[in-house]
Order: sequence, then structure tokens, then C-alpha cells
Amino acid sequence: MQSEAPLDFLGDLKRTHMCGELGAGDAGRRAVLMGWVHRRHDLGGIIFIHLRDRTGIVQLVFREDAAPEVHGRAERLRPEYVIAVEGTVTLRSPETVNPNLPTGGIEVVCSRIWILNESLTPPFPMEENVDVSEDVRLKYRYVDLRRPHMQRNIILRSQITFAARETLTRMGFLEIETPFLTRSTPEGARDFLVPSRVQRGSFYALPQSPQLFKQLLMISGFEKYFQIVRCFRDEDLRADRQPEFTQIDLEMSFPQQESIFEVVEPLVQRVAAVAGYSVQIPFPRLTYQQAMRSYGSDKPDCRIPPFHTVEDLFGGAGLTAEGLPLVAIRIPSTGALSRKERDELKAFGEERGLRVYDDVKRLERDFPEAMTAVRERTGAGPEDLLLLAGRPSPIKGHRPEEAVLTACGQLRLYAAQRYNDRHKLLDPRNFQFLWVVDFPMFEWNEDEQRWDAAHHPFTSVHDDDLDKLTSDPASCRAKSYDLVLNGVELGSGSIRIHRRDVQSKVFAALGFSEEEARRRFGFLLTALEYGAPPHGGIALGLDRLVMILAGENSIRDVIPFPKTARGTDLMCDAPSPVPASQLRELGIVIKGI
Ligand code: ASP
Repeated sequence: MQSEAPLDFLGDLKRTHMCGELGAGDAGRRAVLMGWVHRRHDLGGIIFIHLRDRTGIVQLVFREDAAPEVHGRAERLRPEYVIAVEGTVTLRSPETVNPNLPTGGIEVVCSRIWILNESLTPPFPMEENVDVSEDVRLKYRYVDLRRPHMQRNIILRSQITFAARETLTRMGFLEIETPFLTRSTPEGARDFLVPSRVQRGSFYALPQSPQLFKQLLMISGFEKYFQIVRCFRDEDLRADRQPEFTQIDLEMSFPQQESIFEVVEPLVQRVAAVAGYSVQIPFPRLTYQQAMRSYGSDKPDCRIPPFHTVEDLFGGAGLTAEGLPLVAIRIPSTGALSRKERDELKAFGEERGLRVYDDVKRLERDFPEAMTAVRERTGAGPEDLLLLAGRPSPIKGHRPEEAVLTACGQLRLYAAQRYNDRHKLLDPRNFQFLWVVDFPMFEWNEDEQRWDAAHHPFTSVHDDDLDKLTSDPASCRAKSYDLVLNGVELGSGSIRIHRRDVQSKVFAALGFSEEEARRRFGFLLTALEYGAPPHGGIALGLDRLVMILAGENSIRDVIPFPKTARGTDLMCDAPSPVPASQLRELGIVIKGI
């Protein structure tokens, strides 16, 4: 960039006001403002500039007749130039008031200007909705972040973080840091590894969560810990996942499950208030079993009514296989579906192994009594969409009933989303929080033919199920819980194992040999032998929480410097190859790329 004229120094000039904070009450005052040229309108003898800083926009006026030299310099200004001005806050005449600008009742008539920096023409305008690809936005993220709605999101994020810190600190939690260069913490993803230069051939793992450290802090007697902490998980990136993300992580000693809820509920209420929402607490609690039987999901979206199992009403009719559920789904106020829409529903069900019975008239003819009972059970009125779905062919697996309920849950959501323009129930500002409790302890890993921890391996089993850990893992319930909002898991936690003997049993049930358990988690097993108190906690996903409270659809819009779905930072071009010398130092040889 070639400067036409030298730039000015800031010298000892001090800002007196922020652009967005000026109002009629400041009329007549001298103001020194600093910021970016948002827009410029040159009428010849008079130049209007919209000056922008973090707080908003104010109009500057440069008059040739009043200050010819300053006006002359203002002619140079282009979008995104950085300037300082001195001037007088002046009320606008009624016909020039700009109702679209919060500061539109005034303007600042300038008597001096300092041009502090120039700018290339920005790759896209600094407007609310720009028609530009996300890749371009991410490449010029520092410019993208200047746009008003991105500013609002990042500012809201800061306010929410502050409110969380304040609330937890007031409740007696201590903010304690835990290491990033550490060992593997299993949360179900791959680790990001960091090679050690000093101990060639050894690697640190970046934490998938501070899980083990927060447990160790309870063993150390801190009783209430929290951290707003970055976690790293190397997953095949699905849409809207980030390889690094932020959690509000907490842990308590001697808690009941309810004690954790009693911390999280007011915390969520407080951060929602920061975003202008009022949230009712306590949140409803649903067991995993209930959630599956009513919603076919462990993260139910309660903005639409639950479904009902009705196989008992159709005994022997063959609509679903013996022992499998038949589900009645009601989507309110949807009206009749077209032929095409019905076919779509059927196809969606079929792909998931379901048979969808959408012809209610026919069902009513064939099973009049049963259908009257279905209408009673579901409360389905004439304007509601009513579907039955079942699985006529048998199904293999450890929890066949759950597989059918899950497919029905997907069908329910699909139908609700598909016809949202008719019933409008899926309003993103209708916050339906709930707790799902009593999750199964284990999940069957089909690929490796073994049981995995459904939450993580440090989760307590229900006291009543302790004896079934190896004999009947499928039926063991965990003391774990999820916070769910509108079909999204916002947080997940558990009461932990605090006894060494129980931890060993759980490792054994997960198929870890004693030796492997000792190699990977020996430090934890030893620590459990030094007076570990009962403890438990939870982690809430901050990015997702802010996204929802900001009314955004993508977590990338509330993370200042996010990565793409391929895990790339388009701005600084990471990950990137490193010089051979750096690899040599680490003893690393790259093969087969
Ligand atoms: N470490 C768990 C997670 O990151 C949260 C918890 O159990 O507190 O999901």
C-alpha cells in the first residue's frame, strides 16, 4: 500500500468518548473519538463519515467552509482507515435525524483529524449480512470479526464467560488450572499428540478434558473446582465440531447428583439472563429409559410432544415384531400430508428399518378400537399428524428395543422439522432444558466386539448394579447425567468412582487388563488409595451454549478463530509442514505421504 501522504502519530492524544455512547446529552461537548471509517459520503463541500468503534457508529461531519484543511484531509479517507478526530457533538436538525442509528440524533462536527492508518479495500463490507463464502471470511477473520454481529457474538461470549466465573466463584468454587501437556484422558476421541524433544520418542497428549486432574484436585481436598478450559479431541470432524473447544468444567466433593444440578441450574439461568432470556429452574429430570420410551433419544427435543408406545393395543396384528415397540408419533397442527410428503416419510423410516403406517383412515377401519385408544393416549386431534411406526422384522443386537425407539425418535424429529413452517414449534428461543439421568453404564462397540464406557471409565455404577458389572453389563446403570436443550447435549457429567476396588472392577469390565490399567491410569489408581472422597462433576460446552444464546446456527460464529470442517485454520494456514531440522530434533521421520 502506498501512502499518498504521511500518516499521523497518535502522540499524546487521548480518547474522550466512545462512538456508540454519544447522545443528545453530550450536545455541545468536545469529543475526541478514535476508530474505523465505516462508510463515507462525499457531497463535495461537506463529507459525512460513519466512524465505528467497539460500541457502535457515529456520524462525523467535515465542512469545507468551516475547516478547509481538515475537510481536505478527510477527502483521503476510505473504508477501514483508522482515524482520530476532535470535534463538537451537535444535535441534528429534525429532518436529518437518522432513526436507524442509535446515535442518529447527533453528529460530531470535526475541527481536527489524525489519519493513523490506511487500509486496503476490505474483501467484503462490514455489514450484518454479507454474501461471501465462509472460507473468505475465515481467511480474513480479523476483518470478519469487525462486522457488527460478530462483534456482538464475541462480546456476548465474554459476558457469558464472566457471568459463569462470577457465579461459580460466588458459590465457593475455585478456578484452578490443569496442564495441557499431559497424558491421554479417554473421552472417546483420538488424542492430539505433542512430541517431546527432550525425551525423544515420547509424546504428551493434549487433554480431551481435564477429567483426571479435576478428580485429583478433589483428592487434594479443594472440594469445589471449576475451569473455563480448552479441550482437544481429534475426531473425524462432523459439521459443527471443532478440534479444540471450550468447556465450563467443574467438580465437587461429597455431592449428590442433585448437588451438581443445584449448581448448574442457577449458573445456566444466570448466563441466559446475560443474553436477555429468562429461564425457569429447576429443569425437569427424565431417566434415560423414560427419554428413550418417550422420545427415542437421550437428548430429547421437548418442544414437540413425546411419542407413545402402543404395541399393547395391537396385540398380534403384526405391525411390529414380537417384543419390539410400535410407536405412535403425533406432530401437532400439521394437517394432511400430500402423497409426496407421505412417501418421503415412509422412505425415511425404511432407511432406518422401520415400517411407517401413515394411512390413519385405513388403520381406523382395520383397528377401530385400538385407534381410538391411540388417539386417547397421544391426544391426537384432527389437525395433528399421526403416524405409527414399527419394525415387523426381528433385529439383532444388545438392546433391540432401543434401536427401534431410536429410529422412531429420528422419524419424529424429521417430521417435526420438515413441517415446522406449519406448526412453528421449533422456535430456537423456546428453551426447553432438561436433565437426562441414569444412563446405561456401557455401550456395545460393534467394531471391537466389546463394551465401552458410555460416559467415561471413571463414572460410578449405580450402587444396586455394582454386582452386575461383569455378569450383566448391558443392564448396569451409571450415575451419569446430561443437560439437554432442544435436542442438543449441552453438558455431561457423572458421580465418579472414588474407590480403588470399584475402579479396578470397571476397568476389568471394559476389558482392560490389570497391567494396561496400571500403565495408563496407575497414578489415578494410586491416588484413589490415599483418601479419595466421593466426588462428581460436569462439563458444559461453552461454544454451543453461546451459539444458542447468540441465536446463531454455527459454533464457528461464536469462536473468534475457528477451524474449518477439515480442521484447518485458513488464516494462518495451520496445520502446516515444519522444517526438516525441527523434525530431526524431535527424532521424527515422515513416511508415506
Ligand atoms: N469429562 C467429561 C467430559 O468432558 C465431563 C465430566 O464428566 O465432568 O465430557
